[in-house]
Amino acid sequence: MDVIKPVIVIHGGAGTISRHAVSAEKEQEYHAALRHILLASQQILTAGGSAVEAVTLAVTMLEDCPLFNAGKGAVFTHAETHELDAAIMRGEDQQAGAVTCVSHLKNPIKAARAVMEHSDHVLFVGQGAEAFAQQHALEWVESSYFSTEARREQLYRVRGSQGGSVLDHSGEALTAAPAQEASPINEDKKFGTVGAVALDHQGNLAAATSTGGMTNKQVGRVGDTPIFGAGTYADNQTAAVSCTGTGESFMRQVTAYDVCALMRYAGLSLEQATSKVVMEKLPTIGGEGGLIAVDAQGNISLSFNSEGMYRGYAYAGEEDVVTAIFK
Ligand code: ASP
Repeated sequence: MDVIKPVIVIHGGAGTISRHAVSAEKEQEYHAALRHILLASQQILTAGGSAVEAVTLAVTMLEDCPLFNAGKGAVFTHAETHELDAAIMRGEDQQAGAVTCVSHLKNPIKAARAVMEHSDHVLFVGQGAEAFAQQHALEWVESSYFSTEARREQLYRVRGSQGGSVLDHSGEALTAAPAQEASPINEDKKFGTVGAVALDHQGNLAAATSTGGMTNKQVGRVGDTPIFGAGTYADNQTAAVSCTGTGESFMRQVTAYDVCALMRYAGLSLEQATSKVVMEKLPTIGGEGGLIAVDAQGNISLSFNSEGMYRGYAYAGEEDVVTAIFK
């Protein structure tokens, strides 16, 4: 029997690189944040904790970090509000929970997990999701908690330059932030979802994803993140997958499930399956972004067709923690 190699893989969104505009310090800030989050969640796996625990912690920490578009630092809708989505799924029994269009839950991923563990339902929306979370004593915040000045300026730039166009982040008219503040990935052209996938000592897989959605999205719009099979999926038979990118394309191609289906029914390896969906299939409908995935053997894939993706991984008990931004 193969020895199981528990591993945690995370992403902090994909998008267009602004390498020329970014200072070495800023780049290091992103690497340090990814590394810090990986070390904490790796520890859970090393100590024999579950994949669900590891991905919950990783995504909670990514939500709390304002560098990433989920939880604190989430992007704004066209109406200058926040609507957050999150989902979690475990591979052993395919239990799943998600919340969408929530504005007052400090950590939407914790609400998604409460849905998975304490409800017969799978997906809760808006006020119903917030009421459910409050019944489970999850932290409630004013919506302004999520706001950062950088995100507000980003909304004004995108709204101004695109006249209300919701999803086109590829317009060249966008002006980047001043050089000293610029992030490695152009914030106006970045899909800032965060996610984590893990394999634990028991051989169980889990996937979790959380997002503020896309800058300037219309109120009520839901992306791929909380839709199982599209942006988030886990099945012990095949893989755990968490996506980031133009959500509409991922929903139309059922991307996360497609990876697993290609493995299960067509016999593809994780690498072959992820490469097919990210590099071949998504581009046929203009889908931009990427995904992270881990299979039941501990093979991992961090694939993207955009210029960059904040990402990293760490195997349990190993000193090597790998973080990367560019190709
Ligand atoms: N996929 C997310 C959405 O469409 C956006 C992102 O990845 O940043 O809501």
